[in-house]
Amino acid sequence: MQFADQSGGIDHKPTKRSAALIDSLFEAPGTVLTGIVFSAFSASLTALKTGMVLIWAFVPLLILAGAIRAYDLHRYHATKLTMTAEQAARWQKRYQIGALIQAIVIGLWCFTTLLSNDDAIAHMIALSVTTGIVAGGAGRAYGRQSIFRLQASFIFVPPVAALALRGTPYYVAMSVVSAAFLFAVLQLSANLHRIFLRAVVAREREAALAGQFDTALNNMPHGLCMFRSDGQLAVMNHRFGAMMNLPDNLPQSGTSARDVVAACVQAGSIYAASGDLILADIETLQARETVTTDPDAERNRSLSWTVQPMADGGAVVLLEDITERRNAEARISHLARYDELTALPNRVSFRDEIERLLAAARHSERLSALLFIDLDQFKQVNDTLGHPCGDQLLCAVANRLREMLRPEDFVARFGGDEFVVFQQNISVPEDAASLARRIVERLSERYRIDNHLVEIGASIGIALTSAEGASADTLLKNADMALYRAKADGRGTFCFFRDEMAATAEARRILELDLRKALANEEFELFYQPLVNLKSGKISTCEALLRWNHPVRGTVSPVDIIPVAEDMGLIVDLGRWILRRACMECIKWPEGVSVAVNFSPQQFHQRDVLSEIRYALEVSGLPAHRLEIEITESSLLRNTQLTHDILSQLHALGVRISLDDFGTGYSSLSYLHNFPMQKVKIDRSFLEGIDAHRPLTLLRGVARLSADLGMAVVVEGIETNEQLALISADGTVSEGQGYLFSRPVPAVRIRQLLNASHGKRVQEQLIVVSSRSLA
Ligand code: C2E
Ligand code: MG
Ligand code: MG
Repeated sequence: MQFADQSGGIDHKPTKRSAALIDSLFEAPGTVLTGIVFSAFSASLTALKTGMVLIWAFVPLLILAGAIRAYDLHRYHATKLTMTAEQAARWQKRYQIGALIQAIVIGLWCFTTLLSNDDAIAHMIALSVTTGIVAGGAGRAYGRQSIFRLQASFIFVPPVAALALRGTPYYVAMSVVSAAFLFAVLQLSANLHRIFLRAVVAREREAALAGQFDTALNNMPHGLCMFRSDGQLAVMNHRFGAMMNLPDNLPQSGTSARDVVAACVQAGSIYAASGDLILADIETLQARETVTTDPDAERNRSLSWTVQPMADGGAVVLLEDITERRNAEARISHLARYDELTALPNRVSFRDEIERLLAAARHSERLSALLFIDLDQFKQVNDTLGHPCGDQLLCAVANRLREMLRPEDFVARFGGDEFVVFQQNISVPEDAASLARRIVERLSERYRIDNHLVEIGASIGIALTSAEGASADTLLKNADMALYRAKADGRGTFCFFRDEMAATAEARRILELDLRKALANEEFELFYQPLVNLKSGKISTCEALLRWNHPVRGTVSPVDIIPVAEDMGLIVDLGRWILRRACMECIKWPEGVSVAVNFSPQQFHQRDVLSEIRYALEVSGLPAHRLEIEITESSLLRNTQLTHDILSQLHALGVRISLDDFGTGYSSLSYLHNFPMQKVKIDRSFLEGIDAHRPLTLLRGVARLSADLGMAVVVEGIETNEQLALISADGTVSEGQGYLFSRPVPAVRIRQLLNASHGKRVQEQLIVVSSRSLA
């Protein structure tokens, strides 16, 4: 039963339970009517039998009370569907009043019949009818105990009293039995009430559970069908119908699994063959997953059907749309095997493919070659034109490589600017050389990228398969070694792998290990070489130069250490150590002397170079103006804006910058102008053949220009007095550095030197000290 809530308030809403109890009162109109007719008929019988007018008077009263109740019952059933809580409560009241009036009339009729005459038949009729009515009421009015208790008492207490009042032993005994009966009936009704309540609660719970199940079923993202053990459909949720595009009338319980699957096929949601597979799983109760696709290719859906047998022999079918998941998996597996930018195979898929091809060609007479290609100057393009242009360039390179290869060859990108080509089935090594030559030429041709004309080069290392066979990893390793040599040979070229390269690579590997150990064990040392002010003859600065005394290798030159440390990425840690050590040493020197520290490009471009420098100054207590950072032109090439910013900030800090080895690289005079620098160090190569006229002019020109731009000029590598005389002639060169003044010497020595000579013209003493240090 349902109440339409017209009150609009939660407080007035009848609980389902009280609704059910009220409803139970009106439940059996038949028994009520029978009771009414029966009591009126019995009253007439007793009146007839005794002939008493008083008893006749009860007959119309009984009929009237019965008629009112019958009318109420009828009205209740007509309006109960739209009933509000208040109305229900009013109905209960009406029932109570009607039932009690009727009870009083019946009780009085029986009382009167029992007391007013001695007719045993009339007595029996009255007593048995009231007993029957009370017993019937117990089975009907259990819903409201309070009403029934009053009703039963009103009917039955008067007869019990009348029997007792008659006074004869049999009647008194009858009165006791009737009282006991009344008590038993009240008990019985209370029990019925309890049982009824329990049933109502259970029904409520069941309905709530069914509601929750329904909500869950129709809100789950999966489609679901449940089939009973006889193969008939028990439950199907809306999602299933929607996913399968089924007509609205289909999800009827009792449809067979075969019909459901057939409807899915008919709706064009699965192929008939897939339908057969799924149906077989449902019928044979196979726990299995089947993936189906739509016959309509445009929908491009992947659906997963999982059949799960149930304990009672039926089966649950879960339907999931796995299109997204499948697409994502396909994307991931593509990404795992292909380079996203160029769409070329990546290292993983290249290796697998080569391994396969090598295994297939194991006993063949023919050769194969693996070409490891590295682009030259790619980094500069990336840094100057930006990453998007760099990406376009890599795509253009990939396209050129693709176009050049035969169908059986294979090209992959290994990341960064590294490409690898596998050339199959060649007869002589020259075939690989010829391909390498063509690749170098083709990749060196100009590219047009976003209106920029870009030129890069390529270096190639080649490894050939041998008759004994080689693994993909060995080929890659060998080609890489050959590439290293090709790059060392001056780039823009190719080189075949040779066995001795493996030895060189091994030697380098050991050097790398040693270097790491050396840094950890502080096996490095700094030597210092003075820079002398040519006018005053005093030491202005000492340059810190790295030394490594290895127990077996002997003294290793920084020229050998620095590039390896750069390749290994060790330069940042090593550079930090050098900077801090040099600052700590400088603080021990006389105040007018600065320290110069060499910074390699990689070290200069590390993210926190400024904080590194600030920290070194702070821990050593060295004022910033006593620190000079020497950088080379290659440091200026990269990422020019950033470099400019760093230089400006260093300048603001008070640290001086000098441009080292000027004249060995691009020697671009524009650097001198564009970057905030305070010193230029002209490389000692300028001094070679200085007596000849031309280089001297060149050196003087550069020196004058730098001086005009407000920079101090240093000439490195002065070894003879003649060189010194030529350089100092026109007064533009402010400082000199070289063996003539001193070789680089250990820290203790430079301290002695500075203490002994500071404040004096030291050139002569320096020469004495340094020749002593040489001895
Ligand atoms: P550099 O910065 O140009 O240092 C000057 C180099 O020239 C030193 O070589 C020095 O010994 C050498 N030299 C000085 N006067 C003369 C001379 O009259 N004649 C000749 N023939 N050579 C002279 P060194 O110490 O072998 O260092 C070589 C290069 O290694 C340095 O060139 C510098 O670029 C690099 N280097 C040295 N120490 C460090 C360091 O601590 N960090 C970094 N990043 N690089 C360093
Ligand atoms: Mg230097
Ligand atoms: Mg230099």
